[in-house]
Amino acid sequence: MEKKNIKKSVVAEAEQIQLAIQMIKLGARLQLLEAQTSLSRERLIKLYKELKGVSPPKGMLPFSTDWFLTWQPNIHSSIFMNIYNYLVEHADVKDITAIIKAYSLYLQQIGHDSDDEPVLSMTRAWTLVRFIESKMLKMHTCSCCGGKFVVNAYDLNQNYHCNLCHIPSRAGKTKKSKEMAYKMVTVAA
Ligand SMILES: [Zn+2]
Repeated sequence: MEKKNIKKSVVAEAEQIQLAIQMIKLGARLQLLEAQTSLSRERLIKLYKELKGVSPPKGMLPFSTDWFLTWQPNIHSSIFMNIYNYLVEHADVKDITAIIKAYSLYLQQIGHDSDDEPVLSMTRAWTLVRFIESKMLKMHTCSCCGGKFVVNAYDLNQNYHCNLCHIPSRAGKTKKSKEMAYKMVTVAA
């Protein structure tokens, strides 16, 4: 009986390490790893150093909802949330597994290459899901294009026009923003 328990805990630990590796590869911060795995901080730091060759960055997690509502981050956040919600509804995944899968698909969707930082980091994506779950942010349908976008849950969102239908002049109607608009519509559809 005792032997069985030990075996089980070794498997459980291996799963936790696997989970941490996946998250580190996607750029997760230490606080996120601590929140989502049962591994000690020391082991996570070791793992992080081994995979990344550097110590994990120090500092607090981003905690304001404002960032997710600014123009470009809002589009990226909305792409991620559409993928996440789709997976939770149709692919029988939840919690951190759903976040990891949705985030990997988001990177594919935006054509991310490893040379530059994606607009939405893994840690931000995780924070976004927590803000939605705690009902500080929510998804809302644009009355112009019908896509679903991240909005402030406390705002009145009657006749809401998303950031793609209502592009601020300073953002410019660049080739990049047109490409993003196209992707957004195809993801939301
Ligand atoms: Zn729209």
